[in-house]
Amino acid sequence: MDLMPTASEEAFRSAARAWLAVNVPDQPRPTEVSAAAAYDVAWQRKLFDHGWAGVSWPKEHGGLGLSLTEQVVWFEESTRARAPQPGANFIGLSHAGPTLIALASEEQKAHHLPRILRADSIWCQGFSEPNAGSDLAGLRTRAVVDGNELVVTGQKVWTSFAVHAQYQELLVRTSSEGDKHRGISWVIGDMRLPGIEIRPIVTMDQMAHFCEVFYNDVRIPIENVVGGLNNGWAVALANLGFERATALTAAQIELAQQVEDLIMLARETTDASGRALIEDDDIRRCLAQCRADVMALRAMTYGIVSRLARVPIPGPEGSMVRLYFTQLVQRVQRLAMDVIADGALDLDFKGTEGRDWVRNFLLSFKDTISGGTKDIQRNIIAGRILGLPRS
Ligand SMILES: Cc1cc2nc3c(=O)[nH]c(=O)nc-3n(C[C@H](O)[C@H](O)[C@H](O)COP(=O)(O)OP(=O)(O)OC[C@H]3O[C@@H](n4cnc5c(N)ncnc54)[C@H](O)[C@@H]3O)c2cc1C
Repeated sequence: MDLMPTASEEAFRSAARAWLAVNVPDQPRPTEVSAAAAYDVAWQRKLFDHGWAGVSWPKEHGGLGLSLTEQVVWFEESTRARAPQPGANFIGLSHAGPTLIALASEEQKAHHLPRILRADSIWCQGFSEPNAGSDLAGLRTRAVVDGNELVVTGQKVWTSFAVHAQYQELLVRTSSEGDKHRGISWVIGDMRLPGIEIRPIVTMDQMAHFCEVFYNDVRIPIENVVGGLNNGWAVALANLGFERATALTAAQIELAQQVEDLIMLARETTDASGRALIEDDDIRRCLAQCRADVMALRAMTYGIVSRLARVPIPGPEGSMVRLYFTQLVQRVQRLAMDVIADGALDLDFKGTEGRDWVRNFLLSFKDTISGGTKDIQRNIIAGRILGLPRS
């Protein structure tokens, strides 16, 4: 991959930087879930209305039709300007949308892609079930074909933002014959259909972004199936490929900024003797290691982007970058607790740069679970990339 920017990429960077400099909201994202979702929608709509949404999405569906490199440039400039992250729009923008672009029919794309880009529809993911998380292909939510409809019965769990979502990337079992990976279908599920019951799960921090979703004879038009009936495992793999390989690109770029902020915080924070923490050998060494590691992460990110220019649907290689990234996030957040020391007891502690260090530390525990646990990522790397035997 040639890392030297082209003239048009440089021009795009300058234009993005200039627009972001005057348009990033002054107000931080609220912590309450509904207010946070409204904030995310408002930001995404502003991007759309000003022509910045979907940098690498097709022009005919509301995007800018530019390259993935320009998409990365946009993320870099957004990070630099401390612009909001996609938040509640994450699933639609980062993996439902790319999956539809790759595998949906023209009608499905024309209907859904502009709505995702304009934040007219928030998406959620209905994959995990009480007995099918890591063993996703063991899912039991059933869909029976009845004329032009699928009749869905079952339960999903850990569905992020289900209460705010209009649509869902939904995996259902449409056949029980043969291998469990066959007989799964990937369906566009309308969350407002009769028979859907959403129960928010209130977590320890009193937030309710997780939900249980129950399906009681929910009738979904069969035309909502993407990639063909009983062919949903292939669509799910593409979907998970995007979720693991590219969905976190913005967050990976943002992590480099967090490390720089942490270095600044270590310069500003003093210990009991009045010495700046950056003078502490252990802290300095860990900070230097994190800075080196985010550079390695950047190289992996560019590698993925470069590969996607040739192979449009990511394969198992996304598990390598996801595993490295999620463990690095946890290391950076843990180090932040050492730097802020007593501040770690205050949930609302913010450094001068306004970061929620304590909340981010607590949230980082989820990173090696969501999108497939770190054990599952290791299994994928071992089996599908290294070709190692199963036992
Ligand atoms: C923040 C967050 C957001 C999420 N959002 C969504 C969402 O929007 N939609 C959705 O569908 N799901 C979502 N999930 C669920 C997530 O995908 C599952 O939690 C994850 O796949 C693990 O499944 P599980 O919780 O059932 O754990 P289990 O599969 O029961 O795993 C339990 C433990 O056993 C280990 N384990 C299991 N199988 C193996 C194996 N074969 N080899 C080695 N170790 C193994 C796991 O690594 C884990 O440590 C979210 C999870 C989190 C944390």
